[in-house]
Order: sequence, then structure tokens, then C-alpha cells
Amino acid sequence: MLSSNTLQEFARIVGPEHVLTSLEDLVAYSCDGTFVEQRPDAVVSPLNTEQVSRVMQVCDREGISVVARGMGSGLAGGAVPVSDGISLCLTRMNRVLNLDTENMMVRVEAGIVTADLQAQVEAAGLFYPPDPSSIKHSTIGGNVACNAGGPRCLKYGVTRDYVMGLTVVLSNGRVLQTGGKAIKNVTGYDLKNLFVGSEGTLGIVTEVLLKLIPKPEFARTAMAIYPLLENASVTVNNVLRAGVLPATMELMDNTTLGTIEEYLHLGLPTDAAAILIIEVDGGDEETVTKEIETIDRVCRASGASAVRVAKTEAERNDLWRGRRSVFPSLARRGPDQLTEDISLPRAAVPEAIRRIKAIGEKYGLPICVFGHAGDGNLHPSILHDKRDSEQTRRAEQASRDIFSIAVELGGTLSGEHGVGVLKLPFLGLAESPLEIELMQAIKRLFDPKGILNPGKKFPAA
Ligand SMILES: Cc1cc2nc3c(=O)[nH]c(=O)nc-3n(C[C@H](O)[C@H](O)[C@H](O)COP(=O)(O)OP(=O)(O)OC[C@H]3O[C@@H](n4cnc5c(N)ncnc54)[C@H](O)[C@@H]3O)c2cc1C
Repeated sequence: MLSSNTLQEFARIVGPEHVLTSLEDLVAYSCDGTFVEQRPDAVVSPLNTEQVSRVMQVCDREGISVVARGMGSGLAGGAVPVSDGISLCLTRMNRVLNLDTENMMVRVEAGIVTADLQAQVEAAGLFYPPDPSSIKHSTIGGNVACNAGGPRCLKYGVTRDYVMGLTVVLSNGRVLQTGGKAIKNVTGYDLKNLFVGSEGTLGIVTEVLLKLIPKPEFARTAMAIYPLLENASVTVNNVLRAGVLPATMELMDNTTLGTIEEYLHLGLPTDAAAILIIEVDGGDEETVTKEIETIDRVCRASGASAVRVAKTEAERNDLWRGRRSVFPSLARRGPDQLTEDISLPRAAVPEAIRRIKAIGEKYGLPICVFGHAGDGNLHPSILHDKRDSEQTRRAEQASRDIFSIAVELGGTLSGEHGVGVLKLPFLGLAESPLEIELMQAIKRLFDPKGILNPGKKFPAA
């Protein structure tokens, strides 16, 4: 428990109304996008880097653990406290600080919601491509901490590819500025990238300098329908070999399609084994049109029984509506979902899906497979009911088997959600003892007292 003196000290730094201790508030901050739950002792919401630094000085002095929190949409239990301590909520720090149209870069505070950032830069004709499906309810700080991806990664890359600089408050309150507007920089170690994907275990990100690109003016979208799942996967490589690099290639299997259709009645092909939603974009309409025609041809040649190319913006939105509704649809079918995030070499995707389906049958649980087929990042989602302990046990076993398959096929446990606490027990499947030892040494260097998001990302030394 935090002493009343400590709580008063926090209140003097951030203002009393920004230190929450009521039971209702603590419950609200006790979870993220998963079922993991643990109440913090207090929620502290600073307004700027200086306040974060002063809060961290108190925590360092008193040995109080600190779990950074953006919007709490994480899917690995990363923002959930695991022991006594504070939840440090960054959402009051939500401003665009500087939009530099000449260098095509933007400096923002870490708590800005990603969709708000995108809207503001798009108003200036610029584009911030990373687009986690949680874009309206996740922050840039959380995206940086998890190195978030999303459907557009195939063409545009992940959050890391856009981070040019960071302001980070270290565990003892010191403020580190790292990176900058120079596009090439090999001066010293690349400290900036150490924080990207570090899940709040090395420092609190308070400001982010991001690279932007010109906004693509034109986009065309197609849905390809497959009687055989295998052929949907084969299409992905065939499209790339045909010289087209789509912005997105999203796969949904039959179980996922049925689940969405039950919810939204969109007229999805529920008898198909799988569909792909493929989108191309760019600055030249003629090129984009040619690319979607090539995709139509390649999909059919690869076994698609039909290809529907959206002719209007409304039709395009309809094609995307199903994909965007995967999570709410799953919630209707099974009260709890264990959504994994395995990342595979692209060519291993068909075999992985076959084996995941067999796991679903083995444990008697529906597993919906969907995800970013273009970059081999799948989200098998095991539907179950946590109130039934027997079902929960089977879901956990299924989850372990899925991780084993990913590693056996040359892949890994997580492509974009991070390790948090949920994947921690399986880390040894994917990372060698030496890798884990080095991570622990880095952690000790940045956080000698172990107060930053303890018990997350990798086992304590
Ligand atoms: C419906 C749904 C769809 C999703 N789709 C995608 C997707 O397509 N792609 C994808 O990559 N993810 C996706 N996610 C996962 C999640 O939205 C992302 O991981 C996102 O980046 C988390 O941002 P957040 O602000 O909610 O962070 P939180 O959940 O609050 O925190 C996540 C982690 O980051 C740390 N953290 C947060 N802010 C900071 C900071 N300022 N400094 C240091 N550490 C910090 C936390 O301690 C925690 O470890 C999805 C989640 C949901 C619920």
C-alpha cells in the first residue's frame, strides 16, 4: 500500500484530481484488452514530461513499481499491474507539438490517440501509415511500447519504421532525448530502437518524433473468395511475385466469416474456406487500377472462385466493415477469447493454419483464424468460456500448442501484441537462454531497482 505522504506528494506534482484511489477507479484501471486483472494502488495522470520525471523520482526513492498505461487496449496483459504500485496513465499528454511539413515529421505527446494523430496529419496532406485495428482506442505511446503493426504493415512497415526520435523518462526520473530529424544516423548505439517494443520495461515514453509520408490519393480494394484455404495462402506469394505490393492482404477463415456473418449479416460467403481482402494504393490512379486488375487475375489463377472489386467508396467500406468487426463478432460467439499473434515465414502460413485447425478439433474449441496474411502474422482466436474451468484449461493447452507450431515452422510467439504476461511462460520456446540473459542485463542497466513494469516481457533475473 502507498503511504498517505506518497499520495500527497503525487497530488502536489500532478494535481489532486489526477491521483485516483477510489475502488471504482482502481477497478477501471485493473485490466487491458485481455482477461488479466490486478488493481493498482493508485492511478497517477501527469500532464507533461517534467511531471512524469518528478513522479518517477518519487517511485525510484520509495521503490514503487510503475506500469505505464495508454488506452489499455493491449492484448498481452502489458498495462495490467502485477504487484503493488501505480498505474501511470499518459492519456492527458495528447497534443501534437509540432508538425514539420518540410521535413515531413511530427512530434507528438505519447498519450495521443493514434486515429487523432492520423486525422491531424492527413489534414496537412501527409500520412502516418501504421494502423492497428485498435487505432481509435490506442495511443502512440502504447503503439511505440508494443511496436504495433496492423493491416497496412505489408507495404508500409510497423511503428518502429516511423519512429525518428523519443523523449523517455528513465526509472530514476532522468530525461533522455534520443534520435532526431536526421534520416541517417549511426552515431553510437541505436538507443531509440531499444525502447520501441520494450513494453514499458525500460522507460516511460513521453514524446515521439514520427516520420510521415505523402498521403496516397487512390486506393482500390478487392475480396477474393476461396473454396480451399490453401489457395488463399498461395495467392499471397503469387501476388507479390507478380510485382504488386498491396497495402494490405487480410485473411479470414471460414469460422471467422461465419462468426461475423451471424453478427452483421453482410452477405459474406460463409460457405467459403477463406477470403482475402486485398487493397492497393498510391498516388497515380492508372497504376492503382492496373494493380487491382493484376490482383484480380492472379487471385483467379490461384484458385479464387470469385473476386469482388469494390467500385465505389461505399462498397470499399463494406468490404472493410467485416474485417474491422472481427473482435466484437467473436465476443458474441464465445464470452472469452484467447487471441494469439503468431508470426510466421509467409510460406509456412498454409501449414500453420492446417495445424491450428487440428488443434481446435483436438481440444473441442472453435478457433477463428484471421490476420495479416501478407506478412505472415496470424491471430488464431480460441473461443471459450472462462467460467468453465475445464474449457479454460483446454484453451490454455491449445494456446501452448499454437506457440509450439509457430516456433517449429520457423516463426515466433508475437508479431505485434508483445509478450506482456500472457506469453511470458512460453518465452523459452522462442528465445534462447543467452538472449534472455542479455535482455535481463539491459533491464538492470536501465532499471536497477526493477520498478518499471515488473514481471513483464521476460522473466526476472
Ligand atoms: C480490438 C483490438 C484490435 C487490435 N488490433 C491491433 C493491430 O491490428 N495491431 C497491433 O499491433 N495491435 C493491435 N491491438 C493491440 C493494442 O491495441 C496495441 O498493442 C496498442 O499498441 C496498445 O496501445 P495502448 O495505448 O492501448 O497501450 P496499453 O494497452 O495501455 O499498453 C500496452 C503496453 O505499452 C506500455 N505503454 C503504454 N504507454 C506507454 C508509454 N507512454 N511509455 C512506455 N510504455 C508504455 C504498457 O505498459 C503496456 O506494456 C488490438 C487491440 C484490440 C483490443
